Amino acid sequence: MHESLLQRTQELASAYLDSIATRPVAPIASNEQLIEALGGDLPEDGEPHLSVIERLATKADPGIVASAGGRFFGFVIGGTQPAALAADWLVSAWDQNAGFHVLSPAAAVIEQITASWILDLLQLPSESAVGFVTGCQMANFMALAAAREHMLQRVGWDAARRGLIESPKVRLITSAESHGTIDRALAMLGLGADQATRIPCDTQGRMRVSELESILPSGNEPTIVCAQAGNVDTGAFDDFATIGNLCRDHGAWLHIDGAFGLWAAASTRHRSLIAGVHLADSWATDAHKWLNVPYDSGLVIVRERSSLLAATNYKGAYLVREEAVIDPCMYTPESSRRARAIPLYAVLRSLGRKGIEGLVDRCCSHARRAADRFTECGATVLNDVVLNQVLVSFDVPDGVDPGDHMNSIVRRIRQDGTCWAGGTQWQGKHALRISVSGWRTTGNDIDRSVDAIMNCVSHCG
Ligand SMILES: *Cc1c(COP(=O)(O)O)cnc(C)c1O
Repeated sequence: MHESLLQRTQELASAYLDSIATRPVAPIASNEQLIEALGGDLPEDGEPHLSVIERLATKADPGIVASAGGRFFGFVIGGTQPAALAADWLVSAWDQNAGFHVLSPAAAVIEQITASWILDLLQLPSESAVGFVTGCQMANFMALAAAREHMLQRVGWDAARRGLIESPKVRLITSAESHGTIDRALAMLGLGADQATRIPCDTQGRMRVSELESILPSGNEPTIVCAQAGNVDTGAFDDFATIGNLCRDHGAWLHIDGAFGLWAAASTRHRSLIAGVHLADSWATDAHKWLNVPYDSGLVIVRERSSLLAATNYKGAYLVREEAVIDPCMYTPESSRRARAIPLYAVLRSLGRKGIEGLVDRCCSHARRAADRFTECGATVLNDVVLNQVLVSFDVPDGVDPGDHMNSIVRRIRQDGTCWAGGTQWQGKHALRISVSGWRTTGNDIDRSVDAIMNCVSHCG
């Protein structure tokens, strides 16, 4: 029974992937049309499997964003490498509960192997604990949970048991440019987003380190500092060597949010951007961005294993553990979960160290190509293109609001459908934000997209 169903599903999936080269990148259906096509009352009687899948594939199709294709430049979004996609299918077929060693020795072992390969590739301390979480949001959350436990334990407070209501204060230091998921993590952890002192940044979005030293504690005050590898707008990196040494001197925990930027470590050409990254205590990154594995896939990395374990303490009479085995669920906030490491394992094996370096370098050189082309066309590139991110601004006609102008450009780009990019504001200027993170992008995709964007801009005068 499953054979014909899976075969047909494979045909539909392949047809979708083949269509990526020619379909509009933006969706063509409205929400109302999608509800009309897919909704209605919950069926009283079941439908045959095949018709459920056929309906999904045909009716959802107009609402799909071709973000897996080569001309999607919005947010920071990768596609799916072939080996990762195929491995993800196996993960669903095996349906393993990867939270517990006893429920899937294969998943647990693959996770350990993948963790050690990732630490090697990202040049992070080999003794670190690695948790396979849903994305960088949860990676930031878990890393900061570990930081909270560690820092409070140092002053004799067990936060996991005693909570934060009467706890000693934790001093938080982030940068003015830290990602919104850091604030969300601080909020969810009960530390409070507004408690953070924000260090001002330079024109590229790098923390002004000269302003950090004066606010670091001189005593034993629990302190957490958040730095960033890869600003979502500019791609800029904080100065980890200086920040890391300052944090060590002052006994502060350093966390680095490196959702995509940490992958610069895989490239000889870009590695200098992450100098000093190993001085931190925790790191958060994504695999579903630059490594191009399917959603959802992020990694939390904590140097001191016991700090992460202190945050995820989990007991139950039926959770009888064999000696020396730490269940994978102990490194994540979940209990039961998908075998998320398996697509990562597949992509690391299929690309190898050189293939990953090639992916990173290719995206970065496409970003530079886009920046050069935009400049040739008379647009202004606002950032130093050090990685895969480009910010472009266009002349605003007299009497037109710059925000309205950018919105109409973005709308036109979506209607045109050649590519997809979003607007942002960088230090007061409205800009189009281009992120090259997908493995499918070619030089030709860049040229076609720049032409299409400039054509949209010329119609927005
Ligand atoms: C994308 C991103 C995040 C959030 O990652 P998710 O995968 O969406 O959870 C956090 N920090 C930075 C710098 C990012 O680019």
